[in-house]
Amino acid sequence: MSDVAHLGPVELLTPTAERSLAFFVDVLGMEVEGQDGASVYLRGWGDYQRYSLVLTESAQAGMAWLGLRASSPEALRRRVAAVQGTGLGEGWSEGARGRGPSYRFRDPDGHNFELYYECERYDPPEHLRPALKNQPQRYLGRGAAVKRLDHVNVLAADVRSSREFAQEALGYRLYERVELDDGSEAGAWLSASIAAHELIYTRDAYGARGRLHHLAFWVDTREECLRAADLFLDHGIKIEAAPSKHAIAQGFFLYGIEPGGNRIEVTTGGYFVFDPEHPTVTWTEEERARGQAWGVHTVESFHTYGTPPVDAADVRPDGEAMR
Ligand code: FE
Repeated sequence: MSDVAHLGPVELLTPTAERSLAFFVDVLGMEVEGQDGASVYLRGWGDYQRYSLVLTESAQAGMAWLGLRASSPEALRRRVAAVQGTGLGEGWSEGARGRGPSYRFRDPDGHNFELYYECERYDPPEHLRPALKNQPQRYLGRGAAVKRLDHVNVLAADVRSSREFAQEALGYRLYERVELDDGSEAGAWLSASIAAHELIYTRDAYGARGRLHHLAFWVDTREECLRAADLFLDHGIKIEAAPSKHAIAQGFFLYGIEPGGNRIEVTTGGYFVFDPEHPTVTWTEEERARGQAWGVHTVESFHTYGTPPVDAADVRPDGEAMR
């Protein structure tokens, strides 16, 4: 087992808190676990922790931080020491809601992470108690009824340096990547587990730093993805990419833009990596030009839009986003 067990929770920022909350509760079907000031804590019915998403009102959309749970107290100490060695560590805090001591750091691109081990398991109230003792919460079937947070895709001005940091300091495995004809890296699909992807870095088209591409929530079947698309449509949620299958990681997807502007995916499928010597799959520019698995070409915005939004004019030559 790797030192990082899995990712989550994640804090998402929204300038339209009320409408974003309605999206996550009514359309995605998540449950409100608690509320604290400008933050609402949300969970899928399959999340074993108290929450997997913190939704916080803010002037701009984007990701505030991404949590990573270590697999043991020793693993936490090892990873903190490795991060400190890179000079990107920021220090300990006593931890957010339901969580023990957390170590804050940044990746080379400037995304915030919180590494922790101790956390509370979800203890459902009576009306959410499941019939089966191996399920964290009752299945209600509201909206898309997403089960859990699945993966997070962030944008990076320089994919390679953040990808190498994730491998060397955090112990992630690199399952797939895209290398362009000029030798630069356009994307890296990393995982701390056998899931084909958990943490993804793709190139920021504007060369900006610290931005989010999307958060993905899991459902068990393709049919539920299609049903989620019907729900997005009738709730006025912009569908950016209708359901289809990715070539990379083979995930079945639906991408929409929640009211606050953040891209949210409903996903299923993919594959598991059982081979401890799994060779990294490298996709070429020509192969990528063929589109997704079934030949569908993703719309241009999928390759440029992220949160917080930036225009080319808003990015300084050093890559720092100005707003
Ligand atoms: Fe995805």
